Amino acid sequence: MDNIIINTNETKDTKKCKTCQLEKPIAEFNKIRTGVYQSYCTTCAGIRRLAYYHAHKVKIVFGFMKLSEETRKNIIDDLESGLSIKKTNAKYGLGCTTINSWIRKGQVVYNKPVKSFKKTEV
Ligand SMILES: [Zn+2]
Repeated sequence: MDNIIINTNETKDTKKCKTCQLEKPIAEFNKIRTGVYQSYCTTCAGIRRLAYYHAHKVKIVFGFMKLSEETRKNIIDDLESGLSIKKTNAKYGLGCTTINSWIRKGQVVYNKPVKSFKKTEV
C-alpha cells in the first residue's frame, strides 16, 4: 500500500509526486478511486511501466544467454527443424514455459532478434 496516498485535503488541487518530487496538478495523477490517487504522477507511472518492461526483457535475455553457445545454437536448430517447444524444453531440461518466454513474434529474443523459425504442428 506504499503507492497509495489518501488525499485528505479537499481544497488542494496539486500534489507532490513521490518519484519526481514535483508539485503537479492533481489531474496528472491516476485516480485509484474517489479521493485516492497514486503517489506518483502519470509521467512517472509511464516510466515505471517502461522500466518493468526492460527489466523483464533483460531477464528473458539473460536466461537464454546463460546457456552455452552450442546449446543456444542447438535449441534454435531444433525449433527450426520443427521440434515443438514442449519437446525442446524437455530435451534441454528447461522449464515448461522457458522457451516460450524467450520467443517474441516467432523469433528467439536475445541481444537482437537473430533467427526466425516457423512454428510447425507436431
Ligand atoms: Zn512524477
